[in-house]
Amino acid sequence: MQFNYIANASIPSSSGRTIPMLDPSDGQAFDEIQRSNAADVDSAVRAARQAMDSVWSKLGAAERGRLLMRLSLKITDYVAELAAIEQRDCGKPTTQARADATALARYFEFYAGACDKLHGETIPYLDGYSVLTWREPHGVTGHIIPWNYPMQIFGRSVGGALAAGNVCVVKPAEDACLSLIRVAQLAAEVGFPAGVINIVTGYGHEVGDALARHPGIDHISFTGSPTVGTLIQQVASQRHCPVTLELGGKSPQIVFADADLDAAIPAIINGIVQNAGQTCSAGSRLLVDQAIYEPLLERLGQAFEKLRVGPAAMDLDLGPLIRQSQQQRVWDFLSDAQVANIPMVAQGRIVDDAPETGFYQAPTLLRDVPVTHRLSQEEVFGPVLVAMSFRDEDHAVALANATAFGLVTGVWTRDGGRQFRMAKRVRAGQVFINNYGAGGGVELPFGGVKSSGHGREKGFEALYGFTTLKTVAIRHG
Ligand code: NAD
Repeated sequence: MQFNYIANASIPSSSGRTIPMLDPSDGQAFDEIQRSNAADVDSAVRAARQAMDSVWSKLGAAERGRLLMRLSLKITDYVAELAAIEQRDCGKPTTQARADATALARYFEFYAGACDKLHGETIPYLDGYSVLTWREPHGVTGHIIPWNYPMQIFGRSVGGALAAGNVCVVKPAEDACLSLIRVAQLAAEVGFPAGVINIVTGYGHEVGDALARHPGIDHISFTGSPTVGTLIQQVASQRHCPVTLELGGKSPQIVFADADLDAAIPAIINGIVQNAGQTCSAGSRLLVDQAIYEPLLERLGQAFEKLRVGPAAMDLDLGPLIRQSQQQRVWDFLSDAQVANIPMVAQGRIVDDAPETGFYQAPTLLRDVPVTHRLSQEEVFGPVLVAMSFRDEDHAVALANATAFGLVTGVWTRDGGRQFRMAKRVRAGQVFINNYGAGGGVELPFGGVKSSGHGREKGFEALYGFTTLKTVAIRHG
């Protein structure tokens, strides 16, 4: 049984209710979390405010940085344990789960170093005046985290908020939250004061909603579906609470005829099979120069057929999807493809050892998908790659920009002029040229345009979002 973590203590919900946690690899319940309510959120917000007023706001930036660094080192010591938790909770293959735990440590390392480098400015003004700006923390920040990358999203969101001097109340997803409870315990062990990091588990419409509505929350960071992002923004707007929204995408990988296909093919495949396609930045649309459409699809088809899906502990190319409803969602998309006579190029295979009760889906490559079809427009959040061809650069740009989303664009070309033209013309928060998110990008600002959301997390840029600017004008004669 898992508990909320409030003011450095494990606390049951006042509701007395729990939610079973299912292992996606076999669909069986293996633990329980608290089904918290608005009263639990209120306790966490009060604990956070108390921590802010009594200790956190009095800590120097360098001291704050040292604490974040101690947590980073502690996480590094616990990578194996955290990865094992995440693997069972999310169904992540071992390699991916370890990479996520390592990335979490890296986020805290990066933000540890950033704490004492966030400076204000002095501004030349009227004679006899001095004007300066201070970057002040919002106060108590709320963090609503999805199930696809609990540790990574905690790292980028909570790491940045703490570095900027905030205290945090975190609502992890009901499907996957165990690693974050453990990280909060580790934070207490390295000396984080009680109330600086609080975890309240439960359903979105109960805990998430209560968090977004709570008058003591000064900023909300949300990563998840566009529908819930809209709700959060509406609720927060009633008290003019700032929000950062990261709402996923339908990101194109654009391959020109002059591309280095040996480099592009593994990145295209990884971009859609990583975490079984349940990735906000998944490269889920493949736009290919008509001159190489057939040969590229043939090579990709051969590669897809070799992909293997199975229990997370087998550490194959893909693990299961998070839950049965997500599996059903992918099936619905694929049956729509059949109805529309969209051709399938290839599919990977679910291994024979995979339990029938697990939530598995073979990776699937579809071709000639009309740009207006929902498979080209909506986030499947599963391992389904849709391919279509383009005639020229203008056509490629038109297709790339033809969805409501704007998160990531991948461009594969050796032509230097085209690299810059494409980077300028596509509407996306980030453009990767001849790579697709290589290196994890902890240092790189990340976020969307259009329905992919607004605001930036990751990198130093995130610190601006987690602070508010105060201008101080002094007349000294
Ligand atoms: P979701 O948006 O419902 O859940 C994300 C988080 O929001 C969870 O912590 C959830 O408990 C919380 N939440 C849900 N309803 C809420 C509410 N009314 N108020 C406050 N918080 C609330 O996402 P989901 O249902 O788990 O997945 C549905 C789809 O969302 C997926 O298929 C995918 O397309 C998308 N998604 C995107 C991302 C991403 O990284 N951008 C992550 C998860 C899901």
